[in-house]
Amino acid sequence: MGNRFTAYGTRASEHLLYLSNGSTDVFFDVLTLAGCALAETPWQRNLVLHLADGHRIGRGFDGFDLSELPWTEDWPEEKAFLLEVVDKALTRYGWDRLAYDPPYAQGDLRRYRAMVAGLPAPVPVRRPAAWGDWRVPPPPAELERCAVHDIYEGRLGCRLCDPELVPLPPRPGG
Ligand SMILES: [Zn+2]
Repeated sequence: MGNRFTAYGTRASEHLLYLSNGSTDVFFDVLTLAGCALAETPWQRNLVLHLADGHRIGRGFDGFDLSELPWTEDWPEEKAFLLEVVDKALTRYGWDRLAYDPPYAQGDLRRYRAMVAGLPAPVPVRRPAAWGDWRVPPPPAELERCAVHDIYEGRLGCRLCDPELVPLPPRPGG
């Protein structure tokens, strides 16, 4: 069981990042840590909230295609922000706040970065209502931060405090 993160219609040589459920949890954890440190605009915060709440309910069904993101006419800046988030995650930013050590995350992030980088001008798509309009500022309560992990609480509470999400064995002594 796993999740498919795809980039159909991009110029990337690889179009699919298939992650096990555990690797998907890690993927969202490390992107959330990086994104919470960077997001400033409503679109950016909505993206990071999507990551913070990712793979909490739809286990095994939470992959998405990059074209599904609610890109706007400002997509060049939005794409640059997503790359910035991936790059910050690649520096292992905030990984000291994880209870585990993720050995494969950097490889997954590198592959995903190439997929995002290859994204051409997104084609406006009919968007599923669930994604909403990311130009609208998210509810302030969702942007409140966990006192322990300093990431968004989101709709579902801090993902790093969630006992259901323990993708890898805890670090020795951690
Ligand atoms: Zn927390």
